[in-house]
Amino acid sequence: MSLIIVGSLAFDTIETPFGRREKIVGGSGTYCALAASFFTRPGIVGVVGEDFPEETVEFLKRRKIDIQGLEVRPGKSFFWEGHYGEDPNLRTTIRTEPNVYEDFKPQLPPEYRKSEIVFLANIDPDQQDEILNQVEKPKLVAMDTINLWINQKRDSLLKVLEKVDFYFANDEEVRLLTDEKNLIKAGKKILEGGPSLVVIKKGEHGALVLGKDLVFGILAHPCEEVIDPTGAGDSFAGGFLGYLDKIKDFSDEKEIRRAAVFGSVLASFVIEDFGINRFKSLSLEEIENRFAQFKKLVSF
Ligand code: AMP
Repeated sequence: MSLIIVGSLAFDTIETPFGRREKIVGGSGTYCALAASFFTRPGIVGVVGEDFPEETVEFLKRRKIDIQGLEVRPGKSFFWEGHYGEDPNLRTTIRTEPNVYEDFKPQLPPEYRKSEIVFLANIDPDQQDEILNQVEKPKLVAMDTINLWINQKRDSLLKVLEKVDFYFANDEEVRLLTDEKNLIKAGKKILEGGPSLVVIKKGEHGALVLGKDLVFGILAHPCEEVIDPTGAGDSFAGGFLGYLDKIKDFSDEKEIRRAAVFGSVLASFVIEDFGINRFKSLSLEEIENRFAQFKKLVSF
C-alpha cells in the first residue's frame, strides 16, 4: 500500500439551496479515497458502525480502495450535519456526533505501516498523531483539518503540523490558525511551522499553492451550479495526492502544479451532485477532458 488515507466515514445530513438530504454517505476519508482511486489504489483507515451501508463498502472495493484498515464496530457511524446558503463557500455546522470515532485507536495493518504517503484527513488531531506514529518511514505526510479542531484542540493540531510536509486548508481555517487576514502572510507563517507546502483552498475561487520558492494560483473549474459543496476539500486532496502517488515524484514543481490542477478537477466534479453520488458515474476520461479544458482556460 503506498498511499493511506486516514479520515472519517460518515453519515451526513446536508441542506443547500438545491435541497436537503438526510443521512447520506460522506466523511473526509470517503471523499478523499474515492477521488484518489482514479489515479492509484489507496488504503483507507477509519471506523464505521454496524449501520454503515454494505453497499458503500462494496462501492469502495469496486473502486479498488483497500479496506484492510476499515473497522466495523458496534454502535453508530460518525454523523455530521451542515447547511449552506446562497454562497457555497460559507457553511454552518449544525451537529457533529463522533459516535464510533469517540475512542477510535486503530492499529494499522502491517502493510499500511510501510506506506510512502500518509494523508491525515480531517479527524481528531490526537488520533491523526497516533496513527502517524505507526507508519515507519513515510516519504510524504499531508494533513487537513476543520475549524472545530483548530478551536478545540489547537495544541494537538500544532504538534501534528510540525510533522507534516503538505498542509491542506481552506482560507477560513488558515486565518483562524494564524490570526492573519492576508492569505500569503498566513501561508508563510504556516510554512515556518513545519510544512514545506501549504495548499489554501478558496472554494469557487480556486486555490493557492505556497512553498518556500513557489506561489501557484489555480482557478476553480467554472461550475454554474454547485449542488452540494461537501467533500470538495477532501476530493481536492485526494486528487492531488492520488496523482503524486501514481507518478511517484513528490518534489518536481511542475508535477506539484499538475497535481493541484487534478485536485481542483476532482473537487469540481464532486460538487455537481449530493454526497458521493457523482463519483458513481465519473470516469477517468471525463477527468482528463476537464484537465485539458482547464489548460485552455488559463493559457494566454
Ligand atoms: P469537506 O467539505 O471536504 O470539508 O468535508 C466534509 C466531510 O467532512 C463531511 O462528509 C463530514 O462527514 C466530514 N466531517 C465534518 N466534520 C468533521 C470532523 N469534525 N471530523 C471528521 N470529519 C468531519
